[in-house]
Amino acid sequence: MTKKIELITDAEWEIMRVVWTKNETTSTEVIEILEEKMAWKPSTVKTLLTRLVTKGYLETRKEGKQFIYYAVVSEQKAIKSAGNELLDKICDRKVGGMLVEMIERKPLSLSDIEALEALLKEKKQTAPEIVPCNCIPGQCRC
Ligand SMILES: [Zn+2]
Repeated sequence: MTKKIELITDAEWEIMRVVWTKNETTSTEVIEILEEKMAWKPSTVKTLLTRLVTKGYLETRKEGKQFIYYAVVSEQKAIKSAGNELLDKICDRKVGGMLVEMIERKPLSLSDIEALEALLKEKKQTAPEIVPCNCIPGQCRC
């Protein structure tokens, strides 16, 4: 079983996306990149970086006067974990509808679509008429 990683907030995601893109970064660089988009104070960025180190997403080493930050959780792992978290919150019977809505909303490449088609074709072979509800009584109308 893989260790469950701690979830990160929307603000922490903004920081992680910079770190994943840059591989290694400094608070100065993060502040520069997110300046326009987020309008955070430098102290906010520093707090978020520290929190991400505590959460186990980043590690840091000192180079001269500067701290270099680098990711120890991959972007792929974080995306998967955030997706699983969402899926675990909702009734299994409602997942299909949510996925349809998500697919409607976002652009997909031809290869994404081909992968989805292949997967759906396979799933169709064993698909139930109705997906069983996995909720406790009182949390769902299924
Ligand atoms: Zn349910």
